[in-house]
Amino acid sequence: MARGLYVHIPFCDAICAYCDFARVLNKPQLVDQYLDVLKEDVLKQNLEHIETIYIGGGTPSALTESQLEVLFKILQPYTHNIKEYTIEINPESITLEKAKLMHKYGVNRASLGMQVTQERLLKIINRRHTVEQVKQAIAWLHEANIHHISVDLMYGIPTQTLADFEASIQTILSFDIDHISLYALTIEPDSIFGHLGYEAAEHELDADMYEMAIDRLKQKDFNRYEISNFAKANGESLHNQIYWEYDDFVGVGLHASGKEKGTRYTNVKNLRRYLNGDNEQEIINLDHDEQMFEFIMMNLRMQKGFEIRRFNQLYNTDFLKKYAEPIKKCVNNELLAVTNDRIKATDKGLDLLFSVLEEFMEV
Ligand code: SF4
Repeated sequence: MARGLYVHIPFCDAICAYCDFARVLNKPQLVDQYLDVLKEDVLKQNLEHIETIYIGGGTPSALTESQLEVLFKILQPYTHNIKEYTIEINPESITLEKAKLMHKYGVNRASLGMQVTQERLLKIINRRHTVEQVKQAIAWLHEANIHHISVDLMYGIPTQTLADFEASIQTILSFDIDHISLYALTIEPDSIFGHLGYEAAEHELDADMYEMAIDRLKQKDFNRYEISNFAKANGESLHNQIYWEYDDFVGVGLHASGKEKGTRYTNVKNLRRYLNGDNEQEIINLDHDEQMFEFIMMNLRMQKGFEIRRFNQLYNTDFLKKYAEPIKKCVNNELLAVTNDRIKATDKGLDLLFSVLEEFMEV
């Protein structure tokens, strides 16, 4: 049974230079059509047991108040037992009225795209907000009684120095927020950066930035509860934990993905086709071994790791026996720790998770 619902709103007021998500420029008429099709998409799903809703994008906050209200009404029947209801917002498109509307329909968490604080770098990535707008957005969210707020922070941007990044971290740490997501810029072939032939930052500088962020955030009580996500007490994202715990979730909207037992699906990426009802999904059926590997891969991203009993029950397999070799090797190398019924990555193991997973892949 799906525990989470992801809803994709693909409209943005401007296209960021690094972005290759499913997004299009915001056009009011297209949004109205999209919401009609989305409603049908939602109605087809079994959402009886969902605990979290996440409206992502695109830029959901770019919708007008009346469009947002249509969206919230589509989702309203499924909000009664919801523990967490998140919406992504961009600082330049939120208003106090929109924040109040979000709260009225049960939204209790906002994820704010900020990335960096230097105007020069914001220009390079083609983001149009200012630090003042971010501060204002956070103040409005609190005023509207939305107190769980996450901010995205990005490193590895062309010309970004370690000092730039540290200044961004310090600014973010001065905000009244309880969650920070850290992203390394990747140059995707389908992004503006990809088309312009930009190259990713040097690996060493990237690694220095990552280490510095972990250190500075820890000093301010942001616990690294997942490789790239940091939260104050009770600020962890419940929705994302459904992904990392490898539970089932439903995805609706353009290019949204979902998972049901051993099957993953992704909706069509072409907006015209989605609007025409031609949502030919890409479907991947995973065999037993692939599911076990994905379970390990996702769960080990979290600082808490996973209960070995849960794995054994889900896959009718003795985890410690089947993976005895990689476990032994990784424990000896201080990458993994096994205590009682739980296995988790150490701090070193989280930094080197790719190497850990390589060991499990070979079984
Ligand atoms: S990064 Fe987000 S806001 Fe920027 S273009 Fe992509 S979806 Fe839109």
